[in-house]
Amino acid sequence: MAKKQFKAESKRLLDMMINSIYTHKEIFLRELISNASDAIDKLAYRALTDENVGLSRSDFAIWLTLDKDGRTITIEDNGIGMTREELETNLGTIAKSGSLKFKQELAQSEGDKGDVDVIGQFGVGFYSAFMVADKVTVTTRAYGSEEAWKWESAGADGYTVTEAAKTSAGTKIVLHIKDNAEGEDYDQFLSQYKLQALVKKYSDYVRFPIKMAMEKSRQMEKPADAGDDWKGGWESYTEIETLNSMVPLWQRQKSEITAETAAEFYQSKFGDMEAPLSHITANVEGAVTYKALLFIPAHAPFDLYTREYKGGLQLYSSGVLIMDKCPELVPEWFRFIPGVVDTQDVSLNISREMLQHTRQLEVIRNNLDKKIRAELLKIQKDRPEDYARFWREFGLLLKYSALGSYGANKESLRDLLMFATTHESGLTALKAYVERMPEDQQYIYYAAAEDASQAGKLPQSERILAKGYEILCVQNSEDELLLQILGQQEGKPFKSVNDDDALPQTEEEKAAAEKQAEDSKGLLDFVKETLGDKVFAVRTSGKLVSQPVCMTTEGPITLEMEKYFRQQKLISGMDVSNGMTAQRVLELNPNAPAFAALQRAYENDREKAARYAHVLYYQSLLIAGLPLEDPAAYAQLVCSLME
Ligand code: ADP
Ligand code: MG
Repeated sequence: MAKKQFKAESKRLLDMMINSIYTHKEIFLRELISNASDAIDKLAYRALTDENVGLSRSDFAIWLTLDKDGRTITIEDNGIGMTREELETNLGTIAKSGSLKFKQELAQSEGDKGDVDVIGQFGVGFYSAFMVADKVTVTTRAYGSEEAWKWESAGADGYTVTEAAKTSAGTKIVLHIKDNAEGEDYDQFLSQYKLQALVKKYSDYVRFPIKMAMEKSRQMEKPADAGDDWKGGWESYTEIETLNSMVPLWQRQKSEITAETAAEFYQSKFGDMEAPLSHITANVEGAVTYKALLFIPAHAPFDLYTREYKGGLQLYSSGVLIMDKCPELVPEWFRFIPGVVDTQDVSLNISREMLQHTRQLEVIRNNLDKKIRAELLKIQKDRPEDYARFWREFGLLLKYSALGSYGANKESLRDLLMFATTHESGLTALKAYVERMPEDQQYIYYAAAEDASQAGKLPQSERILAKGYEILCVQNSEDELLLQILGQQEGKPFKSVNDDDALPQTEEEKAAAEKQAEDSKGLLDFVKETLGDKVFAVRTSGKLVSQPVCMTTEGPITLEMEKYFRQQKLISGMDVSNGMTAQRVLELNPNAPAFAALQRAYENDREKAARYAHVLYYQSLLIAGLPLEDPAAYAQLVCSLME
């Protein structure tokens, strides 16, 4: 029996294959099962026109057998098999794909792909067996042939082909698993559970059953003649199991995918205890043909906001898992969306692991982006409570995505963004705010506060609310920045309730305000002098209704930003004493009784007026939610006024 040599370059190629193409040794099983599935597909196709095949669809199967002691894994199929010649060309020549040839011939002959979904195309997958095996034996009999052949190889130095015996068409591949080597655990593959898990992971949707006799044990039943001293015990037995689920949910008709089946699929596939808020199906034919099934989770993964988090969709091609997390299939801002995409239209590289960055991916990504957004907007409209939940879990990520890259993606996200509001809904999208605006309202109002109810209680909010207008609450500097980046909504600019011209003023009103300021100049100067560096300026205010004071700012740094910087200082110890504080403006309500009291004190008792000035200052801080530098002094001050 003469040993045939691989062609010289084949030798090197095989060596490369074995050692460097694949990152995960475990994919050998995926490759061999895919080949078995292809072989069955070919015979099943043949059976459509050739009744001699004598097998119906349900007779086809792939068998896995594990022999721990003999260190072998066997993969057997009742597919088309190979003639001696095919054995030599397909397994003796690297990068020769009989399956690709089959596909090409099929396409040429009829232009009809029938029910065939052949996976192979590169002609290298088979050799991945040598990553885990030191010897591979292939026994095969081609359909329609009386002969069977055995191909055997221990790797790079060649193979033998000898005659063999086999009763029916098909192929049986026996892998003799390598011994453990330093840093390499091959024994792991000699476990039925490992093989089961690998089938689930990579080949769950192969269209023919993958069967394995599983060793199990059970409690023995008490024999009829057993005495009272019968202690019971365990017995082992084998049970034949089909390891794969075969029909992927996403291949079914949209109408067949109910909320229940989708939830069940999602929970088992993505290991979530909770059902998703929603599922999205896509079945697209055209420039790129693909099917997709995506989910909107009810809660964020615990590590979403960490650097380690890796999002993306699962990519399948012909029911075989190609990539577990393919980030290119969804836009960055939807990276938390789990799901699967199944397509034959992306170019895989030879290891079927990574993809080239093709236009096809971009087409899929853009389509899915639209679909996900449409679904979210539907939830926002029809199920506001669910949307509020979604926003709690993922809102931060969407906000940062809108802020990122200098707002490059803001328009994609605008409609999804939510803000706390004084409106009874508590949370609103900008569009809905604008829809509720009374005709005479010119701006979208916002106030910085802890929450919407606080925002509504700010002294400067009173006049806005009195007009029947709604106020958005910006809860941190990110929110404020977000409004700046968004600029407007449907032509309506954003306006802080702190702005003097937050409500349009008539000329008379303006003139009256100016006169008021002039008349009070002496008093205002006195208050400023009394408070010194604590405030940047003291003014009479047109924004107040019933409250006597409020604190606003002038210049680029707002009170919110100041709060933020203060927190940063607490966290990082960074020195923020310079330039990071807001220029505070104390605004007094000239119509409030307190103002009149201050005025009287200023005229009659300067010492008392100074104390009043301090009280008003402290109150403005309290109302704005700002800390008092010296709460004890404030308490004393108030008490002193009671004496
Ligand atoms: P590919 O599957 O990409 O074509 P492989 O290296 O996996 O490449 O397989 C090479 C060829 O060997 C296949 O195209 C097929 O013609 C043949 N082959 C492999 N396994 C089997 C099998 N179980 N039954 C019949 N033919 C097979
Ligand atoms: Mg293959």
